Amino acid sequence: MTNTENKCKYGLCDGSGWVWEKPVGGREYPQFCKCHIESVKRKRFEKLLKESQINDMRHMTFESYKPQHQTQWRAYEQLHAAHKGYYLFGPYGVGKTHLMAATVIRAIGQEIVSVIITVPKLLDTLRRYGEKDTVAIETLAYEADYLALDDIGKHKVTGWTEERLFMLIDERYKKFVSRKIHTSVSSNLPPEQLSNTIDPAIVDRIRGMCAEVFVDGKSYRTKA
Ligand SMILES: [Zn+2]
Repeated sequence: MTNTENKCKYGLCDGSGWVWEKPVGGREYPQFCKCHIESVKRKRFEKLLKESQINDMRHMTFESYKPQHQTQWRAYEQLHAAHKGYYLFGPYGVGKTHLMAATVIRAIGQEIVSVIITVPKLLDTLRRYGEKDTVAIETLAYEADYLALDDIGKHKVTGWTEERLFMLIDERYKKFVSRKIHTSVSSNLPPEQLSNTIDPAIVDRIRGMCAEVFVDGKSYRTKA
C-alpha cells in the first residue's frame, strides 16, 4: 500500500491502508481503510486540479481581502467564521470572486478536496459533455467535497445544458444532505431573481444548501 510510511489518520489501520471486516457469522476479509481511499482520491484530485482555475487564484486569501464597505466586512466575517456553503450575491466588482476563492484556499489548507470553477466554464463543460478536455472539470464538479461556483446567473441556461446542470446540483444537494459536503455559489442576482435565468428546481437546491450573504460596495475594478 501507498501508506506504509504513515500512521493511519483515523487510527483504523496499522498504516498499511487495509482493515479487516468481519461480518456476523462470516469470514474476515480485507477492505481498504478510509485513510487509503482518501489518499488515492487526493492524489487523483491533485492531477485534475491542474485543469482547474485555483492555481490562478492562489493570492486570493482571506488575509489579502480588504473589506471597504460594511457589507464586505459582514460577508468577510460570515465566510471566515465557518466552512460551509454560501450564496454570495451583489453587484459586479465588489470582491465576490476573491471571497469565494478564499473559502476554497482555506478548505484546501484543511485537506478538504476543493475546487473553484467559473460558471461559464462549467456550462461549456456540460454543453460539451464527454469530450476529452471536459472530463477533468466535470469530475471535479461532481466529486469535490467543496465546490465553489463563481458567477451563476450571468447567462440564461436552457435545454441540454440546463438538464446537466440540474443533475450536478441535485447530486451535490443529495450529498450535502447525506454527508455534509458543501457547495458555494456567487452571483450578481439575488437568489429570488436567479430563477429568471435557470430552472427554479436548481435554484431551490442551491438555496437549500447555501447560507445567503449579500455583499455591496464600490467596484474594486472601477475604483482606480
Ligand atoms: Zn488507515
